[in-house]
Formats: sequence, structure tokens, C-alpha cells
Amino acid sequence: MKTLIKCGTVVLEDEVILGDVLIEDGKIVRIEEKINDVVDRVIDAEGKIVLPGGIDGHTHFNLHVGSNVTSDDFTTGTIAAAFGGNTAIVDHMGFGPKGCDLHHQAGVYHGYADGKCVIDYGFHGVVQEVDADILEEMASMADDGHPSFKIYLTYDYKVEDAEALKVMKRLKDVGGITTVHCENDAAINYLRRKFVGEGKCAPKYHALSRPESCENESVLRMITLAEAAGDAPLYIVHVSSARSAQLIKEARARGQHVFGETCPQYLFLDETSYELPGDEGLKYIMSPPLRDKSNQEKLWNYIKDGTLQVVATDHCTFNYHGSKELGRDNFTLCPNGGPGVETRVPLVFSEGVAKGRINLVKFARIISTNPARLFGLYPKKGALRPGSDADIMLIDPHKEVTITKSLLHENVDYTPYEGFKVTGWPVMTMVRGQVVVENGKLMQEPGYGEFQKRGRIDMSKLQGEF
Ligand SMILES: [Zn+2]
Repeated sequence: MKTLIKCGTVVLEDEVILGDVLIEDGKIVRIEEKINDVVDRVIDAEGKIVLPGGIDGHTHFNLHVGSNVTSDDFTTGTIAAAFGGNTAIVDHMGFGPKGCDLHHQAGVYHGYADGKCVIDYGFHGVVQEVDADILEEMASMADDGHPSFKIYLTYDYKVEDAEALKVMKRLKDVGGITTVHCENDAAINYLRRKFVGEGKCAPKYHALSRPESCENESVLRMITLAEAAGDAPLYIVHVSSARSAQLIKEARARGQHVFGETCPQYLFLDETSYELPGDEGLKYIMSPPLRDKSNQEKLWNYIKDGTLQVVATDHCTFNYHGSKELGRDNFTLCPNGGPGVETRVPLVFSEGVAKGRINLVKFARIISTNPARLFGLYPKKGALRPGSDADIMLIDPHKEVTITKSLLHENVDYTPYEGFKVTGWPVMTMVRGQVVVENGKLMQEPGYGEFQKRGRIDMSKLQGEF
């Protein structure tokens, strides 16, 4: 099977060309200004932008939290992702039963996802207890294609500093990378109890109980531990605060392998949403919380200068009706998280590329190439180059869309981006040479998506420009 994408604006790793992309048996074969091979299908990409498919390195599909389960599972989640221009996701495993080993959750997640996805997928491991056996097991988890793990500094299975350091050191040694949720647990718990005790239970107290200082402190603490661990590679998820990004910038300037991810919610939404009338504010309860608007343009600047390499979503959906509304009288009862996997690419394209903040090469990096590099998928995925999987999205840069819940495929009863007007929309998504979404139609069945056995992370290849 040969496919030719003709006359597109093709975004390569360091330049943009007008040209053609030849695909054979699921791989990119050639990218040239003019290709005249006889093929099975020609896709006319004139006026369209041809990009490596989006890779969302931070989703939570089918996540069980207490008595709640996210409304998106691996089928609805990957369908929504495909409509949003994505060709792969890397999901964060949820916590398992107390005392379980690392492979336990890997098995659980294969059960959730195998045969269920329409795009390719992988899983980040999760560390919930740290002992010699768990540290030892990380090598075989990496062998199985899970070289990245997440640690949490808050919630039920928060790790202590000494444990975090051991994890970072061990993952460095086995060619892995530590990702971390940075918030100061003691301060948050104190503030939550204090507000609830004073009867201050409205959504805005969610944000006030998790101030930026809590994030900034623990970002600096993890950077410090990663340095002590011999420059262990460290990836800070969902950076919401400009001050946290500055700490990452300073560590990188010292030569440390510290990386940062931000999310659309921190670029496009702000804390005033918590004061929306009625119980609307509950829709925005997520951690870290939305911040003061002044952070937004600063975060863009940290994207531009390479301090933040990735925009991922932290997609974690709970319906407003029946789940989020549990927090109506007390914000601490509202499950944390929000949707985003389908709107990431168009929002970042519109606000980033269409508004002139970043160019197309940078856009491709933050949406696809950099997560592929940092999580062991590159160069198989994350770039348009001969030999790579033909994971491609086409964006119509002139298509104007007003985002509204009814337009989206996310299995949740609201979008935090309701009414947002964007310029540019993904109109085709192709995974391994097969079209998955075309002109608003799903073309593949669940089960088309394949598990990606990700490779170990070579720190020497994480140098230079992002
Ligand atoms: Zn998350």
C-alpha cells in the first residue's frame, strides 16, 4: 500500500518545505518537493499543513479514583485524541492496591487498553511505594517498554525526599526518566483543613489551598534532589506557575537535565473561572489549580526559549453531572481533573502559530517531537522523516471553529473551552499510514491502535535545542 500526500506545507524537524510525502507500508519513505511515483491513494494537501501527529504524553484514561472513574476510557479517549490530531498517547497509570509491584499496574493497564484504542499508546509507570524490590523491578519495566515513571509529592502515595532521590538515581541508571507531580503536601493539607474548618468551601478555595508557592517549593526541591542523584533526568509535569518555569530554566542553565511540561489549561484559562456563577467553578477543579492570568504570557515565553519543551493535557475527565457536582457544598469532594485531549492541538495552533507566538517547527516540537524524544518514542514517532512511522496530521490553517461540547468526541458533559474561537483545525489523522480520522469521520475500529514498547532514554541525545 502506497500513499502520497501532495503539495502540502510539510513541517520537518528544522524547516518547512512545500512538497510531497510518500508513504509505503506504514512508513514514511521519501519527502521531496515533487514525487511522481504511482501510488494507491493520493491525498491532496494543498493549502494544508502536514505535521507529525500529535503525541499527548499526559492522559488519564479509565482512571479509578476512590469511588469515581474517569468518563473517558481508552476507546473514547483515543477516539477524541484522534479527532484532535493525535496519533499516540502515553497514559499515566493510576495507583494499584497497596503493596502491589510495578508490573501489577502494567498488567492492569494492558487490560484496559489492549484491543481498545484507535491510535497508538503507551503507559508511564507509577511509583507508590519505594523499596529495594521496586527499584530493582524498574529495569524489567524498562525492558517491557515503560522507561518513564511518575512520582507524586502529594495524594495518598506521596513519596518522601529520600525515596524520590532513590527513584531518580535508579531510573538514571536504567535509562529511564522520572516525572513528578510537584506540590507541597503539608502546606496543602493544612490550608484545606483550615478553609473547610472556617466554612470556606467554594471552588475558589481549591485554588487558594494550593498556592503557587506550594508548586514552586517542590519544583526546586526535586531539581535539588535530581542534581544530588548525579544529574538524573527529571521531567516536571503540568507546570502552571511562571516561577516554577524560571526554576527549571535556571537548572537547565547550570546544565541539569530538567524538563518541563505545561498544559493548555494553564495557557488559556485562569483562576477567575473558580468564581463563575452557580457551581460552574467546579468544572475547573484540577491540580495544580488555574493561576493568575499574568502567568500565561510568561509560560509562552518559557515555551519559546525552550525551558518548557512539551504542551500535554493531563486529560482526566469527570462529568459535571454526577461527579464534579459532588463538590457543590465542599470543594474537597470534587474529583480533580478536566478534559483537553481533543482541543490541545487546535488551541495551541491557534494561539501559538496563528497568533504568531511560535513558528511551525516549534509547534511540531512541543506537540509531538519533544514528548517522543523524552519518552523513548523517537525517531520511530514524533517527526516527519524517512523511516519513521507515517503518523501524520493535516491541519487546515484557515478553518475557523468555535469550540463547543457538541462538536467534540470526549466522553464528558462539558468542555472548559466552551465558546473559544480558534483558527486552524486538524482535518486528517493518519497512524502508521492508515487514515484514522478524515473530515470529521472515524475510519478505524478500536483495536487499530498498537502498544508502543518505548525505548530507554539516552541522556546524551537530550542535549541542545528543544
Ligand atoms: Zn496527571
